[in-house]
Amino acid sequence: MTSSWWCEHAWLGDSVADGVLITVVDGRITAIETGVAPHASSHRLAGLVLPGLANAHSHAFHRALRARTQRDRGSFWTWRDLMYRAAEALNPDSYRRLARAVYAEMALAGITAVGEFHYLHHDVGGARYSDPNAMGHALIDAAGEAGIRMTLLDTCYLSSAPDGTPLAEGPQQRFGDGSGEQWAQRAEALHAQMSGRPGVLIGAALHSVRGVPLEHMPAVVEWAGAQRVPLHVHSSEQPAEVERCLAAHGRTPTAVLRDVGALGPRTTAVHATHLSAADIADLDATTTGVCFCPTTERDLGDGIGPAAALLAGRGLFSLGSDSHAVIDLFEEARAVELDERLATGRRGTICADRLLRAATGDGQRALGWQDAGALAIGSRADFVAVQLNSVRTAGGAATVENVVFAASACDVTDVVVDGRAVVADGRHLIVEDTAAELASAIAELMNTDRRGVRP
Ligand SMILES: [Zn+2]
Repeated sequence: MTSSWWCEHAWLGDSVADGVLITVVDGRITAIETGVAPHASSHRLAGLVLPGLANAHSHAFHRALRARTQRDRGSFWTWRDLMYRAAEALNPDSYRRLARAVYAEMALAGITAVGEFHYLHHDVGGARYSDPNAMGHALIDAAGEAGIRMTLLDTCYLSSAPDGTPLAEGPQQRFGDGSGEQWAQRAEALHAQMSGRPGVLIGAALHSVRGVPLEHMPAVVEWAGAQRVPLHVHSSEQPAEVERCLAAHGRTPTAVLRDVGALGPRTTAVHATHLSAADIADLDATTTGVCFCPTTERDLGDGIGPAAALLAGRGLFSLGSDSHAVIDLFEEARAVELDERLATGRRGTICADRLLRAATGDGQRALGWQDAGALAIGSRADFVAVQLNSVRTAGGAATVENVVFAASACDVTDVVVDGRAVVADGRHLIVEDTAAELASAIAELMNTDRRGVRP
């Protein structure tokens, strides 16, 4: 199937061109012409058109905590207690409804692929569902309904401290598979079921050096390596996490991951906030990627990671909205440079083009979509149109700086995923009332427990 899309302006990776006609055949870009007038038969995209944004780190159910965990003081650890309460109430049906609305919110923000870091595998108390991957299927179906690609980063989560302390009673019981081997068997079953399904990849994740005892890490690393799929891991988010790892293993989290063979070009260290110079050198030497989640990291008071030093390395640099305090990849992108300014007292270390590459091509590749994230021949036909006539962007011209430093998610007007229009004129074409679906799914989750009882 052939279609053509005429862009008023388009970012072609190194520059912005005007009057860009993109031809798409079977979901892929086959031709790009610049400086042409609109064709009557072409779809017209106004504003500045970008490749699809990638949200490389998501926990869909955390969306239910928005505006609830910001009320009081507290720490990362008190936030985590509230998060566990939300986790306790979900089942496959309610999680599919919530995630469908959350992924629709992402589509409206120009996100064409999400990396879902998924560890809420089992029923209350750790009981297996009749299909042990029922929760994973709920998330995959939700992304399909919302029209975006899904990399399900199936997460191994077995322990609650770096010394191997078992998962606690209560909601943590829902996360654990018992061992790395048992995790790999469940992940393999899901991988086999999803093989060949368009728009879906099954990747792997180690929850963290706290969440997976050393002896169980190789099963996960080996499975991801054998399947050649992305491997993600929370790493060095909190100073306390680094201190406990040093106490238990005599090494930093990055060094632990290096020593089990978990670092490499398909690996992404999520957060990578509190790193030593040796950690940064290890990540570079192994071409390991990082994923910064600045709006979550500032919401939780995690700290500011060494963005400039990591960007000077060879690994991918991706972005994620993580806890979904907001879902806005432009906000994540500019935060990398603005946080760097606060940390160093210097402006303009990381240019807007590099920040936008993080939000597009780097993010797509970190999720295993090697052929996405660029307006180039052969790429997947993902287009995101950003309006240049809103109160935020008017007068700022068709520049990458205007998008990265001034636009917000609500300036996204049109989104095309693999050649298919998902958002038009600021409206989701499938999930027609995304706000209402978010409201009802979150009310259901936060007001009642699994048996429908108000806590
Ligand atoms: Zn996370």
